Amino acid sequence: MLIRYPDYLPMFQCLAGQCPDSCCRGWGIGIDPKSLERYASWEGALGNRLRNSIDWENGCFLEYEGRCAFLNEENLCDLYLEGGKGAFCKTCRTYPRHIEAFENVREISLSLSCPAAMELILSGKGRAAFVEKEWERPLERYRDYDRELYRQLCVLRAALIEAAERKDLSARCRVSWILALGHDAESRLSNGDRKGLLQLISRSQMKSDRFEAYLRRKIHEKPGISPEETSKRYLELFRSLYPARDNSASDWKKSSPISESEGKAARGRAAKDSANPLSPVQEDAFSEALSSLLIYFLFTYLCGSVYDGKIFQKVQLSVYLTAMVFLLAEDRRDGKREEPGADPASETAERSSGISGILERDPNWRRHLKEAAVQLSRQIEHEDRNLELLERAMERGKREEFSLMSCLMWADRFFS
Ligand code: SF4
Repeated sequence: MLIRYPDYLPMFQCLAGQCPDSCCRGWGIGIDPKSLERYASWEGALGNRLRNSIDWENGCFLEYEGRCAFLNEENLCDLYLEGGKGAFCKTCRTYPRHIEAFENVREISLSLSCPAAMELILSGKGRAAFVEKEWERPLERYRDYDRELYRQLCVLRAALIEAAERKDLSARCRVSWILALGHDAESRLSNGDRKGLLQLISRSQMKSDRFEAYLRRKIHEKPGISPEETSKRYLELFRSLYPARDNSASDWKKSSPISESEGKAARGRAAKDSANPLSPVQEDAFSEALSSLLIYFLFTYLCGSVYDGKIFQKVQLSVYLTAMVFLLAEDRRDGKREEPGADPASETAERSSGISGILERDPNWRRHLKEAAVQLSRQIEHEDRNLELLERAMERGKREEFSLMSCLMWADRFFS
């Protein structure tokens, strides 16, 4: 068996009591059957507490005011303090690691929903490096599993990630190419046209000016519906999601190592940048953040299409989630809430002309982006109903607003 993971994964360290948004509050923690069995027969004082702190019917820890029954006043886990690491259930032992299973491969990523993991993901300077290791586990066989398709999806994902990393291309060009490649690759791979896929990928080597011209031609030859319409639909989709958990207990503002360490620097940058809202420093930081988010989502979702063949849907989802992080960041802009008429993320978004508008309005956008990334991941990546809702809406050919041409026109506007 092979395991594959991003190179920063071993650097992960839980912030424990210092965490600005603990994973032990605000959502239910499900307990696996094996752990439930252990907890039921645990002896002594901890055993008694366990029996009184579990919702045995639904197999999860009880919560008090949104906090896990074992989270103490110092925001530390009593189960860990009293029973050691071995007392953890599977969820607590694994989080924030996320594991995707592909017959004889396990892909492990860190979830953006954890502030410490998010720091690692966004500090990757927009570069991706993955480690592969043999793992001594018996080989597995999945029924109806297409091993060859998985291999080709890995090749495609590498090309998409390479495109996300291309700093010589404008943001809109990178995103557009990722969408186009994902779309066309689906047609090739659904016909088993491996050669066609490699030909497509070889276009990724194009020089930036040829790339721009190629994409412009593609849009003009066969335009989709207006970018405003696609933007509207995307935002409607966002509004239709099941609400985010209550974040009122979050300590981002008061204890966040991010806000502390970045506060001064951000104010300095704001003063420096005010004469030139999109300074080269900001451009670079934006470019890195964009790459890191795209790479994160593509790595997490793309290869899942081995099970359903919906490659373009996964690519579109990755781009959509990246865009939504920027929009949610805009919603966190200092003072934005006090503006007359200011309301949920989506309204500001509707007024936004694109990324550069968002960055211009918010000199602290990097801090807000980090908070927004965690928020979005918790609301969407950890809520199956929301993920399914988005995936269903983005199914290929279902809606004209989400067709390739419409998405290209939207990306051209949004990422400029
Ligand atoms: S969210 Fe991450 S850093 Fe915070 S307590 Fe959970 S695992 Fe630790």
